[in-house]
Amino acid sequence: MNDPSEVKAIVTPTSLSYRWVATGAQAEFLNEIARGRLIGQRCPRCEKVYCPPSGNCARCGIATRETVEVQDRGTVITFCVVRVPSENIDVPLPYCSANILLDGSDMPFIALLLEVDPERVRLGMRVEAVWKPAEELGPTFENIRYFRPLAEPDVPVEQLGDWV
Ligand SMILES: [Zn+2]
Repeated sequence: MNDPSEVKAIVTPTSLSYRWVATGAQAEFLNEIARGRLIGQRCPRCEKVYCPPSGNCARCGIATRETVEVQDRGTVITFCVVRVPSENIDVPLPYCSANILLDGSDMPFIALLLEVDPERVRLGMRVEAVWKPAEELGPTFENIRYFRPLAEPDVPVEQLGDWV
C-alpha cells in the first residue's frame, strides 16, 4: 500500500463547454480574416488601433467604430525561446514565441516565429505572416500559421517606444 504522505500531485480531468458568438467588431474582423485581410479599429480619442478589435478602447473606455486595414507584417517587440514541449504546439524544440506589433496596429499579440534559428531572433526584427492556402481560410486567427523573418533592416530598439 502506498504511503499517502508520498503523494506529490494528482491529475484531475476538467472540461468546460461554452459557445461564443462574435458580434460587431469581432464579427467584422473574422469575416475579413476569412478573406485573408487583417483589420483593426481606431479609437476616436487616443487614436490607438486595436487588432483584433474588441469594439472599444481599453484606455479611454469608449466605443471604436473606424475600421482600418492592418498589414500582415510587423516588428518583434519581445520574444522567448521555448525549450519545453506543449501539447498544443507541434513544432520542434527549441522554437520562438514572439510578441509582434503589426504595421498599422498599436496592440501586439503573441505568435509563433519560425523559419529562423531562435538564437538569431532580435528585438526590432521585421517579420511577416505565413498564411494558410486561400482555399483553407476561415473565420479564425489560425489562418496565420506563423510568422517568419523579412529581409528588412531591424527597427532600432529606441524606436520601439514603451513596448520594450
Ligand atoms: Zn482610446
